[in-house]
Amino acid sequence: MAHAARSPKAHHELPELPYAQDALEPYVSRETLEFHHGKHHRGYVEALNGMISGTEFENSTLEEIVRNASGTVLNLAAQSWNHSFLWKSMTPASKPVDDALKRRIQANFGSLSLLKQLFKRKAVEAFGSGWIWLVEMPDSRLMVLPTSNAENPLRVGGKALLTCDVWEHAYYIDYRNDRAAYIDAFWNVADWSFAAQNLTRQGEASSPPDCGSLLRQKAMGASDRG
Ligand code: MN
Repeated sequence: MAHAARSPKAHHELPELPYAQDALEPYVSRETLEFHHGKHHRGYVEALNGMISGTEFENSTLEEIVRNASGTVLNLAAQSWNHSFLWKSMTPASKPVDDALKRRIQANFGSLSLLKQLFKRKAVEAFGSGWIWLVEMPDSRLMVLPTSNAENPLRVGGKALLTCDVWEHAYYIDYRNDRAAYIDAFWNVADWSFAAQNLTRQGEASSPPDCGSLLRQKAMGASDRG
């Protein structure tokens, strides 16, 4: 199995959306998914394939590239990874948070409602393009982690549980400049079952090579419990 997971993967593929393009309406429109998945995500994957061809990353998995690359290759790989994670963070059949995750949320943020408030505030405050993540850090704390541009939790040793894309291309068709309204809508399609599965998943939050500036920069969010 370990061999299969590490087999050469020179060509990264755009994953299918796990639901129909109109399945998240009215919260995320068909037109948004058509562009966001079909144009933006596809563009990152295709550009990545072009960039890594003939380089040391040609046979690397996407995770290996995210952990070890820098510059444009890192940006393209991380955007590819982030969007694949984003599609799974949403579902047309959103269910209430399960008990185990709910207890962790209550312990870390006070309540689900306070987590949502903090998430929204971080999203609105995030300057420019980026992502807002619910993550489990290596010390088992849950936190809301904003990242800029293509950065993602793998780079700081965090285990991603759920994400929301706050690049304008994620919401401008549906909400224009109203990022707060987009976050409010996001909760209607947030896949808490996916978040709960990620929480119980083992072994993917080990120390990455680069725990440097981003972690220090973001650690201030740790004391921030809304
Ligand atoms: Mn995006």
